[in-house]
Amino acid sequence: MFCDFYGEVVENSPRLNSGHQSNWHSFTVTDYTENPALRESDADTINSNNIVGRRVIKCDAWDINAGPSRALPPGTLVFIRNCFVTEWDNTIELKVRADPQFPDKTSEPAPESPAPPINPRASSVPLVHTEPDPVALVEPEPELESIFQSPTVIRFPNRPITPIKEVMGFPKPIWKFRIRARVVACAPVELERFVRIYCHNCQEGATPTPDLAQNGTVVCPGCASVLPDSQYVYSFSMLLEDSSGDRLRVIAYGRDAAQFLPGLAPTNMHSNNATRQSLAQRLGKILPPSITCKWHQTGPKRHRKGTQSAMSTPAPWFDCCIKSYEVEIVGELVRRYQIFGTSLT
Ligand SMILES: [Zn+2]
Repeated sequence: MFCDFYGEVVENSPRLNSGHQSNWHSFTVTDYTENPALRESDADTINSNNIVGRRVIKCDAWDINAGPSRALPPGTLVFIRNCFVTEWDNTIELKVRADPQFPDKTSEPAPESPAPPINPRASSVPLVHTEPDPVALVEPEPELESIFQSPTVIRFPNRPITPIKEVMGFPKPIWKFRIRARVVACAPVELERFVRIYCHNCQEGATPTPDLAQNGTVVCPGCASVLPDSQYVYSFSMLLEDSSGDRLRVIAYGRDAAQFLPGLAPTNMHSNNATRQSLAQRLGKILPPSITCKWHQTGPKRHRKGTQSAMSTPAPWFDCCIKSYEVEIVGELVRRYQIFGTSLT
């Protein structure tokens, strides 16, 4: 089957192209459709946009299309024409080959061309920057400074609050800010995946699974070396929104994330239900009920009994410190934001 595809580049990295020849380049794309026929295990691959698993398809660009596709950073909207679609082992691949009549098939759409309706689907996916919905715009401002009580304790309580719009447009790439925001979404979706275990030998992180620990010992899936509990790290992100409706994805990782969740050392939550419950309860102080209800077994039942309004309650405002930095992705510097100096108590 041949088709045209309109969507966003998810990942474009050397990881997808090891051993490839110069006339062939692979990258992954999404149009935010979730396809149940795709492989769930692909969700283990955390890419820079946190779009995973059943929403992602692979694209192989051949010949004249290989070169331009190398230069497409994640997040770029692409229009790929006349792809041959293959389905194999629960993955879908688009093959783009040179065509004598239309040699160049992978392009960024021209600014004046009307964009197909990708946004309605994107808005249902966590961690994608979308337009604020109209409700958010008419909601009241966060409470006045004098009576506002954040559920967090921060290292710089006297630093002025910076609006997210200014954070994103700040001229210096490395900086520290205090922001006041609320959580709109977080990733991964499952609480068990908020933790990874890191192997110094492989320089790789693995997502804990129910059977990762055998006889109480965790063994690296890559090199079989024994990994001590101290090598569990928190690794998750939250999409934050401020009172202007501007949104920013903030990463919680490592020591800073452990400080964010004091007293809750990262562990395999498949085998440590007490920590799992405590973590769900702690994060419940700042996450919207629509997210945390999925982490409690009673959640879906309550939902069905008609607590729809409680489910759509927005999350509370909280203060946090974030630091910005830059990472290089396919030759482009991309700015990232990480939470630090903040404790949710
Ligand atoms: Zn290893």
